Amino acid sequence: MTGGKRCARCRRGTDEPVMIGAVEAGSGPGAILYACPPCARAYAEKWYAPDWLRAELAVRETAAEGEDAEGRAPDGAGVVDTEP
Ligand SMILES: [Zn+2]
Repeated sequence: MTGGKRCARCRRGTDEPVMIGAVEAGSGPGAILYACPPCARAYAEKWYAPDWLRAELAVRETAAEGEDAEGRAPDGAGVVDTEP
């Protein structure tokens, strides 16, 4: 995709980096941590993983499934039959 990043967990390069966090530096710009998709998924299951990471992965899963997503009811909406 965009040149690839190095996974912060397994240290391998990945073409599909997922941002898993950022390092706050006292001075100067912080660093953004990336992980490869398998590591990101494993990281998201940890209790200390941020909620936005789970959301980010959920978005990716939905996007990957593509056309299939249409058959599902959105959150909070029941299945509504419009026909009598
Ligand atoms: Zn990895």
